[in-house]
Amino acid sequence: MSRPYVVNFHEHPSAAVPQRCHDLGVDMAVLLPVGPDAAALARDMAEAEPHRYVAFHWVDTGADPDEEARRLRRVAARAGIRGVKFQPMDQHLFPNDRRLYPIFEVCEELGLVVTFHMGTVYLGPYMQEMGVPMLAKYCDPIYLDEVAFDFPDLRLCLAHLGGEHLYTALVLCEKHRHVYVDTAFLGHFAPRFFPPTTPTALIEHAVHVAGAEKVLYGCEGVPPEAVLESSLGADEQAKVLGLNACRLLGLPAGR
Ligand SMILES: [Zn+2]
Repeated sequence: MSRPYVVNFHEHPSAAVPQRCHDLGVDMAVLLPVGPDAAALARDMAEAEPHRYVAFHWVDTGADPDEEARRLRRVAARAGIRGVKFQPMDQHLFPNDRRLYPIFEVCEELGLVVTFHMGTVYLGPYMQEMGVPMLAKYCDPIYLDEVAFDFPDLRLCLAHLGGEHLYTALVLCEKHRHVYVDTAFLGHFAPRFFPPTTPTALIEHAVHVAGAEKVLYGCEGVPPEAVLESSLGADEQAKVLGLNACRLLGLPAGR
């Protein structure tokens, strides 16, 4: 059987991306920026190779929320942005902070996906990002329950299966029609569960609980083989690896 179309729903823009896509057999990558410079790079990459890259937007949460919402509208119209990435541990706000609501309104109206980093990560001595402490308290998906009620048509993606908040993330996927999870960086989280587990076992569990439509393949060390070598059926694997992403992004499958 031919290999399914693979979309990496969790990549970060850098010069290393093209080679990584090639090595992993990734057909398309969603570029999630952390900071304004990365957002500009993501837009440049997506404009140069729209069949390979999709850019997400970065919001300055310290700026006026209504002005940021207007800026998102302008950028989305001009640059083909398909979503927004939030890094709440660096931006130091909870996902249900009312300052984000003008952004959510625009995303819901335009069909843009909103991806939130979720879960507590240990990156060695590198405990600061963007010049501030990476505060884990902001990375609990429980706050997105309220957002999903307030914006029922907003497409929300909880990164890393919610990290250590796996149970909460999966129940939110069950509860809300438009809450999804991505599978990136599970090589970090899986061995830290007790008992330790594997990315493949976590992906199988997520599909069994939340449904294959709710799980989006993301890399950060998780190769497509983590899905391809799972016990999931071929149709479920194809959804997780690419079909769900194409549907969410409004792309024809396997273009
Ligand atoms: Zn990431």
